[in-house]
Amino acid sequence: MDHQNPVQVAEIRDNQPLSSGRTAAERHRFERSPDERINRVSSIPFFLVHVLAVVGTIAFGITPRALVLFVVMVWGREWFITAGYHRYFAHRSYKTSRGFQLFLALGGAMCVQKGPLWWAGHHRDHHRYSDTELDIHSPKRGFLWSHMGWILCDKNSEIPFDRIKDFAKYPELRMIDKWNGVFPWIGGIGCYLIAGWSGLFFGFFMSTVVLWHNTFLVNSLAHVWGRRRYVTGDTSRNSLFIAITTLGEGWHNNHHYYQASARNGFFWWELDVTWYVLKVLSWVGLVHDLKVPSAQILASNRLADVIEPELEPVEA
Ligand SMILES: [Zn+2]
Ligand SMILES: [Zn+2]
Repeated sequence: MDHQNPVQVAEIRDNQPLSSGRTAAERHRFERSPDERINRVSSIPFFLVHVLAVVGTIAFGITPRALVLFVVMVWGREWFITAGYHRYFAHRSYKTSRGFQLFLALGGAMCVQKGPLWWAGHHRDHHRYSDTELDIHSPKRGFLWSHMGWILCDKNSEIPFDRIKDFAKYPELRMIDKWNGVFPWIGGIGCYLIAGWSGLFFGFFMSTVVLWHNTFLVNSLAHVWGRRRYVTGDTSRNSLFIAITTLGEGWHNNHHYYQASARNGFFWWELDVTWYVLKVLSWVGLVHDLKVPSAQILASNRLADVIEPELEPVEA
């Protein structure tokens, strides 16, 4: 007969290593709370855009004009996410005028990823708590959670103002966040006027789907797949594939190592289109004080030189 106290039994069970190498107690830390479940009603527009992109493209085809629009709408808008929302608003890796700051915010708002304060505030939290239980989109909670689940639940729907006070003081940025739902309509109507139905469904809806998943890959795949160069306390990795699709954000281990840098491809062979454009803009005076890591920082904390503490396996 087993006389063990149920609490003791639970403690023993929770501290048994699982097949993943983590104990059940550790696993509980990463379990999702009720407000971290996907809200099926508020997520309808997200899934509807996917359906419209596929069905509309099949129905109306891809005209040459819509194809050009698609390329511009994916990678033109991607730049505003990488250079604007990410490297400027989240990390302040360079300086600019208030006018160009507004231009970056408006371009980002066209990407259907909410406003700059929401985006950058949550991203700062990701760096603050990378791959701990407080990380809002660690792949340790599941690959799909890190890719898009965290966006579709109620918990992360509000702007974390306490994380982004430095930019929340600008009324024009607060307005963009407040009215962020208006900007996609401008994009959609504009694409229809330029290239008709094919322009709307392929040029706008399909480009938005590709743009979304491009961005999401940095949160999911760039923490699972690729090589690590620097010792960081997280699972970030470098990937040429993601660097190509996201204009340079694939050098995610570099980025987690030195977040303040305006340049994520640390070496000449690491493709970073976002950085090239920023450099050109600095030549004409639109941006300035671009931060880059020193030669000493680049050479320090290499995995080849330091024995990194073993990272927990990531559940894909
Ligand atoms: Zn970042
Ligand atoms: Zn990351």
